Formats: sequence, C-alpha cells, structure tokens
Amino acid sequence: MAHQNIFAGNPLDRAGDLRNDPDWLAEQAAKPYAQALVLWEGRPLIEETAQGPRLVWLSMTHARTLVRDREAFLGLWKDEPVFAIEFEGSIDPADGPVGGLGVFHDMRAAAALLPASDAAMAGGAKSLFDWRRRHGFCANCGALCETASGGWKRRCPACGTEHFPRVDPVTIMLPIYKGGAEPICLLGRQAAWAPGRMSALAGFLEPGESIEEACAREVKEEAGLTVVDTTYHSSQPWPFPSQLMIGLLAEVSDDQAAPDQTELESVAWLTRAEARAVLDGDHPTISAPPPFAIAHSLIRAWVEEA
Ligand SMILES: [Zn+2]
Repeated sequence: MAHQNIFAGNPLDRAGDLRNDPDWLAEQAAKPYAQALVLWEGRPLIEETAQGPRLVWLSMTHARTLVRDREAFLGLWKDEPVFAIEFEGSIDPADGPVGGLGVFHDMRAAAALLPASDAAMAGGAKSLFDWRRRHGFCANCGALCETASGGWKRRCPACGTEHFPRVDPVTIMLPIYKGGAEPICLLGRQAAWAPGRMSALAGFLEPGESIEEACAREVKEEAGLTVVDTTYHSSQPWPFPSQLMIGLLAEVSDDQAAPDQTELESVAWLTRAEARAVLDGDHPTISAPPPFAIAHSLIRAWVEEA
C-alpha cells in the first residue's frame, strides 16, 4: 500500500457519471439523509466530539436555508449523498447562522486536527470552491459561466465551452547524495519562511515537461545540482489553492550545492541522524516542515529507508 499523505484518502464515491444528470442531483439533495460540510472562505467548520475534532455536518435542507448558490456535490458515502456549502464574506458565520455548532479553522490547522478522511473531503471542497471563485468567466469568450455537474464543471452559455477544475502539478523532491562517507540529503530554505524552517525543494511543472525533467530542472535551478536518478515516493492533493504535489527522492551527482538566492537563500546537507533530529524537533538550528506536508513524509521516508 502506497504512503497516503494528508488531504488524500477521500472516502466518497464521486459518482462522476451520475452527477452530470441534473435531475439525479436534485433528487440527491432532497434526500432526508443528504448532508453538507461547511466552509467559510476555505475554512472548515469543526466541532469537538468525544472522538476528537470532526467536521460539522448539516442536513442539506438546513444548509440550503443558509447558503443559496454556493454548494457542491462531493459524492456518495455508501448510498447517501454528501455535499459542501461555502459561506463568503468577512463576517464569521459561527457568530451568526451556524453559531454554537463549531469553530472555523484555517485549512492548515484543520489538517493537523482532523482525521484523514475529513481533511480530504474538506480540502477537496476548498479547492473546488476556490476554482469556482476564480473562474467565473469563460476563458474562451469572456461570458459569465454557469455551474454544472454539482460544481465540477463550468459551462459557458454564450460559446458552449466547458471548463473543468484545474489541478496544478508540482514536483517536490529531496536531493540525495550517496557518494560521500555516508548518504546525505539536502534541505533548502526560502527567505519568507519562519526562522530555522527548511524543507524539500519544489517547483511547478511546465508544459511539455515530464515529472523527471521538471525535478531535474528545479534541482539544477535552485541548488545547482545534477539529478542522476529519480524515485517516486507519493503524492498529495494540496488545497492552497489546488496543487498536486508529486513527491520524489532525487539522487544527485555531487554535493556542491549552491542556492540560487532567488528561490532559496540557503541550503544544508544532513546525514540521516541529523535529518531525524530535524523531524523530531531536536536539531539545534533547523526546524522541519509540519507533519501534514509531503516534504515531511519525504524526509521521513529517507531517514527510515536505511
Ligand atoms: Zn464562452
């Protein structure tokens, strides 16, 4: 079984064919057990339960009295329909229409709190609503688009073009050098990060590039190193706003790393023992990416490989 990162593991059947039928969707929303999770500007509504923090679920009937036009069909849980609604605006709905039901958490905080299945459903819904908010108008002719397929499509009434939610692939890699006394991995640091934070290297794929090529280009651009072998580890849907992180271990030809001073202000080579100390919070100067980030999983995978 492949490693599963946070925001993966959505337990729903997306019912990709059925959701194209507006009559079927209307039937689902009207079912007595139809439920909706609740977002406010990308933040999920979370309640404390005896089992720990969980998403708050509203009946769809109730949800539709609160939010009229911002709902999405997420899929079926067994045979029961699952939706999401999103509040917009600057006023916290937990002080108003959903008062007393829970607290809206930033999605990064939620990722650390929620069970994997809850985080996956909320993250997917956030990406979908983010896309809808940013793609109101037809990229082909400029007309206002209509939502279709339960939120998974935008259709242009003027030119007929259909638009689908975008996912932006990003390679994220841990450079490894095996030619020295013991294997070492490279972490990089962006100037904007909190003091001490270091992480894996990353970059968007460009048109016409394979995953391996994007990985090699980014490692060369950011750290001046030549990738000689690429190993896939795992991937992660990353809802900020909608990326697919493709996690790789990248063996490089030498250890002469030079940060480009644009993306990276510094880099550091770490032995397995040093990388383990970073993950455990025991390193004197370097702090790790948070456990819900795929970079953390990559470092851990390498540390535990030996
Ligand atoms: Zn159009």
